[in-house]
Amino acid sequence: MRADSVDVAVVGAGVVGLAVARALRERGASVVVCERTGIGSGQSGIQPGGVRRQWGTATGCRLATESFAFWREAQSLLESPVELRFRECGYLFVAHSERMLGRLRANVAIQNAEGVPSLIVDPPQAANLVPGLRTETLSGAAWCAEDGYFDRPQAVVEAFARGADVLLGEVTELRRGAGGWEVLSGSGALSAATVVLAAGVASAPLAAQHGITLPLEREERHLFLSTPIAECLVEPLVVSVERSFAAKHLADGRVLASDLAATGDAAAGAPRWRARVREGIRELLPILEYVDFPILASGAYDVTPDRQPILGPIGDGLHVAAGFSGHGFMIAPAVARIVADAVEGRLDPILDVLDLARFEEERLVPEPQVV
Ligand SMILES: Cc1cc2nc3c(=O)[nH]c(=O)nc-3n(C[C@H](O)[C@H](O)[C@H](O)COP(=O)(O)OP(=O)(O)OC[C@H]3O[C@@H](n4cnc5c(N)ncnc54)[C@H](O)[C@@H]3O)c2cc1C
Repeated sequence: MRADSVDVAVVGAGVVGLAVARALRERGASVVVCERTGIGSGQSGIQPGGVRRQWGTATGCRLATESFAFWREAQSLLESPVELRFRECGYLFVAHSERMLGRLRANVAIQNAEGVPSLIVDPPQAANLVPGLRTETLSGAAWCAEDGYFDRPQAVVEAFARGADVLLGEVTELRRGAGGWEVLSGSGALSAATVVLAAGVASAPLAAQHGITLPLEREERHLFLSTPIAECLVEPLVVSVERSFAAKHLADGRVLASDLAATGDAAAGAPRWRARVREGIRELLPILEYVDFPILASGAYDVTPDRQPILGPIGDGLHVAAGFSGHGFMIAPAVARIVADAVEGRLDPILDVLDLARFEEERLVPEPQVV
């Protein structure tokens, strides 16, 4: 039987909430994860498992680098019943102008200073890295061979849920109680010394109940997927920010292609996004010309004004891990460690950068390499 009083209640059973709960359990805390719909029913159930260390801030690189060490050992660390294969296929960010190449070069310098083995390549080198890539309109590209994708990203989310005590029911109210919090949900009341909000944009209304403003916005995002194709057409991920285009052949055989600017209503936008994807394919990856994209997968990012997450304490016994701006899966291991440390009272120096106060104090750390 579940205790009605625990050390920590985590709100949200996405990859972040589950990873935080796992880290806390490993340290001996009693933890309940309160989830309104089901494990991985939010963004974590849509993301295709991309993991990269090519970022444009030292903060982004640090979160990614700590997480990358975890991902390389994911199979043994997460004890999954199915294989959690992380395929280091590489990410290629292409530039069609000297200006964009300059931006990529500046980001690579930041990455290299953080130990990330990325580099700038010229068009012929890019063509060698991605067979089938057309390079006529390229000035160069940034490449990291160790970036990659999980073969079964949802199995990774489920693996974080192993051993978790998940209480189903929407959390509607956080009430101050004796010794901490009363967490009120569709399943009743739960007492917890500490609450961690890991509910994406839905963290904001819960924090607002206590006068705390979390600057989180919902941003609709969409991906096109093909039906499965046996022959692998494009192994690395190819991204063109200037053409707002990205494509990659996933391990399940589906080709993923996206118009990176695709946001808003799918019924209205899909024909325009599909046309832009087709233009990107013609210009960069004609090998995909005859691939059909019948599936449109839709989800939403939880974005902050600087596209970096908000982490750590926001009140007495109240913590947050939200605002992942489209890259919360890949940095979940580092976030879990940092938030679990904070719950135990140890504040990682990165919280001086990613704390909530940065918005009021105008200490934003804009991450330029979000797609
Ligand atoms: C199309 C798309 C592609 C992406 N691709 C990548 C990628 O390749 N790599 C990457 O790293 N990231 C990617 N992301 C981003 C990534 O999916 C998210 O950053 C990450 O999943 C966030 O995890 P989370 O646990 O914070 O949020 P979520 O997975 O959204 O989990 C939040 C949970 O909280 C629950 N909840 C909300 N309100 C309440 C409440 N009041 N009470 C109880 N429960 C509540 C929800 O039901 C949900 O299950 C992508 C996102 C999208 C949409």
